[in-house]
Amino acid sequence: MNYKRILVTAALPYANGPVHIGHMAGVYVPADIYVRYQRAQKRDIKFVCGSDEHGVPITIRAMKEGVTPQQIVDKYHALIKDSFEQMGVSFDIYSRTSNKVHHETAAAFFKKLYDDGLFEEKETEQFYDEKAKTFLADRYITGTCPVCSNPNAYGDQCEKCGSTLSPEQLINPRSTLSDAVPVKKKTKHWYFPLQNYEAWLREWILEGHKEWKNNVYGQCRSWLDNGLQSRAMTRDSNWGIKVPLPGAEGKVLYVWFDAPIGYISATKELTDQWGDYWCKEDTKLVHFIGKDNIVFHCIIFPSMLKAHGNFVLPDNVPANEFLNIEGEKVSTSRNWAVWVDEYLKDFPGCEDVLRYVLCANAPETKDNDFTWKDFQDRNNNELASIFGNFVNRTWVLMHKLCGGKVPKLHEDVLDEDDKWIIEEIQKSKVKIENLIEEYKFRDALYEVIDLSRKGNQYMQKKEPWKKVSSNKAQSTSTENQKLIDNCLHLCLQLTANLAVLANPFLPNTAKKMLYMMKVVDKMLDWKNAGKIKLLSVGYSLRPPELLFRKIEDEEIKFQIEKLKSGLVNEQGTSGKAEGIRNKEQATNSKMDSNKSEIVNPKPEITYDDFAKLDLRVATVTACEKVEKADKLLKLTIDLGNETRTIVSGIALHYTPEEMIGKQVVVVVNLAPRKMKGIESQGMILTAEDKNSKLRLLKPEETVSPGSSVS
Ligand SMILES: [Zn+2]
Repeated sequence: MNYKRILVTAALPYANGPVHIGHMAGVYVPADIYVRYQRAQKRDIKFVCGSDEHGVPITIRAMKEGVTPQQIVDKYHALIKDSFEQMGVSFDIYSRTSNKVHHETAAAFFKKLYDDGLFEEKETEQFYDEKAKTFLADRYITGTCPVCSNPNAYGDQCEKCGSTLSPEQLINPRSTLSDAVPVKKKTKHWYFPLQNYEAWLREWILEGHKEWKNNVYGQCRSWLDNGLQSRAMTRDSNWGIKVPLPGAEGKVLYVWFDAPIGYISATKELTDQWGDYWCKEDTKLVHFIGKDNIVFHCIIFPSMLKAHGNFVLPDNVPANEFLNIEGEKVSTSRNWAVWVDEYLKDFPGCEDVLRYVLCANAPETKDNDFTWKDFQDRNNNELASIFGNFVNRTWVLMHKLCGGKVPKLHEDVLDEDDKWIIEEIQKSKVKIENLIEEYKFRDALYEVIDLSRKGNQYMQKKEPWKKVSSNKAQSTSTENQKLIDNCLHLCLQLTANLAVLANPFLPNTAKKMLYMMKVVDKMLDWKNAGKIKLLSVGYSLRPPELLFRKIEDEEIKFQIEKLKSGLVNEQGTSGKAEGIRNKEQATNSKMDSNKSEIVNPKPEITYDDFAKLDLRVATVTACEKVEKADKLLKLTIDLGNETRTIVSGIALHYTPEEMIGKQVVVVVNLAPRKMKGIESQGMILTAEDKNSKLRLLKPEETVSPGSSVS
């Protein structure tokens, strides 16, 4: 489909705490990269977001602090908005769900579904706290776990043994608000029958959106396979959007009903043409979210939109997984997090560094780990030593050898290396735009750095400084001057290209580069990427600016200590609020102080499950790179009485030469899979450490090929 306009939404942050880097990596950095790229492509695009200011945790936090819910949301709305601005997240509007336009829009949406007879009205018994005079969400009831006797189990889950619970199962249940024993009380609510949309959702997602990311598609399939049920779309509370029906006093819209409608309200606030973005079929709607919001954006909200009938549906929902910190899950309640507002104070002028690290290490396909050491390494070894170094060398040499002006390109002495670098510039442009369109921002960013790496290689090969006459009395020969000119001309054009290509990722850096080149913003238009005539011959340029400073060991040590000392125990309180994104319940993920615990454990399996794997030792007999795939190697392996071909994503960690003769462990009964047109007949086992470094698994000493592994 040819889209005329794009509407990008980013998950509405929950206004009961600041944003942390997990939010940035999961949602806002990738969304901003995508939007900046589309803007540079001159596409019609709008980028909307805002604070989500309703829901139970806000009222509870207000109660605990002795302030009004409005005071809570005012404080965090301002703080969050400011963090986004400083990080360069370029929303067209950052609104809030307490605005009048949102109240009207959400209430009208609800009313339309009600008038169309799409809700079920049900009276049920819910737990109620008579002291605090409020109904209690499951999370606000604690008691003793019937499975493991943990005295602090929650009404929905025991975090000690992992059992899923309901409040009825708890022994000695009590309210976390007042310690009162919860009682059951009758209440009426409006339920949205999701099961009525199941057949349509199956068709729309499972058949129609096979291109969605595996983690998103898989989660949708599992929800659909488990069967959908009616879900209450109203709550008993005084904080939120009043249910627009007679006799519904003391009831508000469920926060997950109203929040996604916030995208519509924000667009209304932004432009009178909002209807074009929401109601015309040729709009491409993209929701950027974290994995905890997949069901709301792929199942519930689309069903609501479908039921309403006037709106477009998302074209894609590129949700990311979670970012852990120093090997442990983020826990906002225990203050195990890196807060963006604090980062900005501790590292002024380093906004792009954080954007870089969070993108280079983004949890795009699985949970990933942020470590301060990796942050330092990526800054010092990639941004500063590769990208920054290339630009700086180019500028210094251009001032020294070419009088501070863009030298000529002498076509008559253009050699193979020159042609190579010109080609690489053009190739990078194509690769990066394809990767961004596929939401593969990590790989796209890798290409940007890789192009600057190639720039360094090119300059190292040409060594223009050696072409200068060593005898001061003697001027450099014309022939040598031509070589110097060509090298620096191309390095300067490459720098201009790097500014265009890096701009979506590192907007502040691109700005600095524009200043050095004395050119205007227009140069960053994407159509300029891949061209080698961006800077005119004879144009004089400014002295170099430092793009990235080194980050010192002490700074890293300080951050690690700060993280550890800020940690609060499970019952304690910290200056920071509870789970920001989890609207119905405060995030309170278990974080044992026992560091030896496995990060992201998988569910237990039986021996029979394990025995299904056919693992064998094989010897690599041949190996080569896969064309047009930087990460893949094609291996020929000997399994004793069988030879097979395997494609493996280890090319960044092993060269083909290194692989030949090595023994590896192979899953031989894995269904074959085509990668880049080559059928891979199995999979090689590797170990991956925190820094994504891969190492092969192999027998301690050589065994005969085909030996089974168990
Ligand atoms: Zn338990």
